[in-house]
Amino acid sequence: MRAQKLFDLSGKVALVTGASSGLGRRFAAVLAANGAKVVLAARRKARLEELAAAIAADGGQALALACDVTERESVAAAFQAAEARFGPVTILINNAGIAPGGAALEMGQEAWRQVLSTNLDAAFFVAQEAAQRMVRAETGGAIVNLASVLGLAVIKGVAPYAASKAGLIQLTKALALEWARYSIRVNAIAPGWIETEINADFLAGPAGAAIRQQNPMRRFGKAEDLDGALLLLASDAGRYMTGSLVTVDGGQVLAGS
Ligand code: NAD
Repeated sequence: MRAQKLFDLSGKVALVTGASSGLGRRFAAVLAANGAKVVLAARRKARLEELAAAIAADGGQALALACDVTERESVAAAFQAAEARFGPVTILINNAGIAPGGAALEMGQEAWRQVLSTNLDAAFFVAQEAAQRMVRAETGGAIVNLASVLGLAVIKGVAPYAASKAGLIQLTKALALEWARYSIRVNAIAPGWIETEINADFLAGPAGAAIRQQNPMRRFGKAEDLDGALLLLASDAGRYMTGSLVTVDGGQVLAGS
């Protein structure tokens, strides 16, 4: 078996949430480069249009859709538009997420809810929308949730984020168990510190220098370090994998956080 064939995504339709920046942007480009028709879903449509044009220039196919993952009608409309253009979505990359910092002792209800509603509630309802459509279309499919090593270990100042990602890891297993009978695989990636917009300022500061020093590989990750895990879980290469968590962190959790 040749790797190119094993990981080929020709004929698949992939929807990536939060595709306007960071990891989502990279995931969309990688899926398209490997043959998938890609639906880019995020709130900033102008940035998505620009990415769709870049993917088209590379010979791929992409559709840009404004979508707020915390609004269920917005999510349903995005899947509807995706299906009308490319056919049923068979790969979902549940990537949209936020990571504001803050001390737990002073955290207000609104700040807490905002993180949980984006990182956990929305991840569930987007996965549910995808799965209901996969069941109706009898296509099966692959759902990849973006968790975090902070769902396994913790640091100070990110209580709602860590709780949301721990919840997402357990949700991944629960959905995998319920949806395996429909040939819908649900897996998660737990990245360590990967340099993107979500953390650029933080990692550029003194805390970042200390984190880099503590990482067993002595570096932060880059978005492309996740390409292999993404393609494994999204493609038929991972066809007997479900409920798995793939950690991509340079050994960070082995060292404690
Ligand atoms: P990012 O801030 O660059 O990207 C997050 C994306 O989610 C953005 O495009 C943003 O617009 C989108 N988004 C946020 N709220 C949304 C909403 N309500 N509706 C639609 N889109 C929304 O961050 P990133 O580093 O690319 O993170 C992507 C995912 O990976 C997140 O779930 C994050 O928690 C996870 N992650 C990142 C790291 C890292 O070090 N970068 C590590 C572990 C996990």
